[in-house]
Amino acid sequence: MSDLPVVPHWIDGAERASTSGRTSPVFDPALGVETRHVALADAAEIDAAVASAKAAFPAWRDLSMTRRQQVLFRFRELLNERKGDLAEILTSEHGKVVSDALGEITRGLEVVELATGLPHLLKGEHSENVSTGVDVYSTKSPLGVVGIISPFNFPAMVPMWFFPIAIAAGNTVVLKPSEKDPSAANWLAALFTEAGLPNGVFNVLHGDKVAVDGLLEHPDVKSISFVGSTPIAKYIYETAARHGKRVQALGGAKNHMLVLPDADLDLTADAAINAGFGSAGERCMAISVVVAVEPVADDLIEKITARMATLKIGDGRRSCDMGPLVTEAHRDKVASYLDIAVQDGATVVVDGRGIEVDGDANGFWLGPTLIDNVPVTSRVYLDEIFGPVLSIVRVKSYDEGVALINASQYGNGTAIFTNDGGAARRFQNEIEVGMIGINVPIPVPVAYYSFGGFKDSAFGDSKAYGLQGFHFFTREKAITSRWLDPSHGGINLGFPQN
Ligand code: NAD
Repeated sequence: MSDLPVVPHWIDGAERASTSGRTSPVFDPALGVETRHVALADAAEIDAAVASAKAAFPAWRDLSMTRRQQVLFRFRELLNERKGDLAEILTSEHGKVVSDALGEITRGLEVVELATGLPHLLKGEHSENVSTGVDVYSTKSPLGVVGIISPFNFPAMVPMWFFPIAIAAGNTVVLKPSEKDPSAANWLAALFTEAGLPNGVFNVLHGDKVAVDGLLEHPDVKSISFVGSTPIAKYIYETAARHGKRVQALGGAKNHMLVLPDADLDLTADAAINAGFGSAGERCMAISVVVAVEPVADDLIEKITARMATLKIGDGRRSCDMGPLVTEAHRDKVASYLDIAVQDGATVVVDGRGIEVDGDANGFWLGPTLIDNVPVTSRVYLDEIFGPVLSIVRVKSYDEGVALINASQYGNGTAIFTNDGGAARRFQNEIEVGMIGINVPIPVPVAYYSFGGFKDSAFGDSKAYGLQGFHFFTREKAITSRWLDPSHGGINLGFPQN
């Protein structure tokens, strides 16, 4: 047994040490060392987290909207004041550079800010006199205990896509974060408690498949919000549905950037660099394929390569542009695609292996990598690599580019770079992808729209956050009301009509 600290669960408003006897190591990816372990829940701990959320539900549901709103306002203020502390935690466990960690927190804060509008967002509808003296109105009620299961790549933002809205709507939450970077979730839960959230409204249950399956099968968990890789998303969708739960399961991605010959190639090259290598490519909205409509490819590659040479790779705490990958195993898997590329006849333009870094030699490094002439039958093109590997596919026309993107199994994000408004409008209409950028490489919607892709990038009919988030975390009651009046008497066995 190691002497390293073990990240505990957060149950009923306090840390709760695990007694399961199972843990998983957590690394500092820039140093390549284990810094702590994280608890892996057993059945008793799953039950304890759900029971805590269940017990807290009636009082939280019945608390006035104004009081719930005040807690959210306070949480927003505290998070804004202390986001620097959270960013350091993110960098130390995920590896992303501190400025990028702050960006992730800011995007999560946007959802908190949206959720503070709960009195408006939870309004129902009212129709007077649908029949004489009869009114119909609707209310939005919380579901109860809701489960959230999140991936490693946004340990703060992705949970914040869901829990502020779930809690604003009167639900209570069990969050199962990624075991690779678990500490941010506890930090957020402690902060929310400090902001006045009653104990049990927000619980953090750490674990692996055992914890996930426990939530999927638990009769007291009413819904599941999942973000992660496509095979697991599909499993979550099917299993949660089989257990009668409402479910939204967001999966993996392979995002294409279509570059038309009239695009401004300097701006396009900047965008390809930012979207391809930011967060070491470990973003579900990263651009991983540039689809260059000829004759732009050679010029564009020259500009991208020149910019790649200026990137500073290293420890995210040292003002670098790009940090390490999350684990050694993931780094090795991503790097293995370079060999596949060569075998499949692609051209490795920039090889990120063995680069010089401003950081510890033991970190999980892989430099920005550029691969040209990638065959669309190659696994380099087909797989979600999830690392700093940018592929170039050359096509002859706009139509060929659109057909290629639409043939992808994924449909999360995409972008077109052009100065032709008509082409951009056609693209927006013809492309089968959930989030589209027009000269914007990472089109993550603002909090008052909703986030989600098509095809194997999302299972379920509800996107994350925005109005769809409030819709997911509430169920509607429709009430037909008549206050009794002598004129309403009489027997009539026919179906009610207006
Ligand atoms: P992952 O699928 O490995 O893990 C996600 C969550 O599922 C974690 O909490 C993990 O503990 C759990 N899990 C893993 N294996 C499981 C199993 N066999 N049974 C039950 N639960 C299991 O994903 P990851 O590697 O943490 O994150 C990266 C992936 O997430 C990428 O595919 C990325 O595209 C995707 N992602 C998608 C979005 C989106 O909005 N579409 C956003 C962020 C990340």
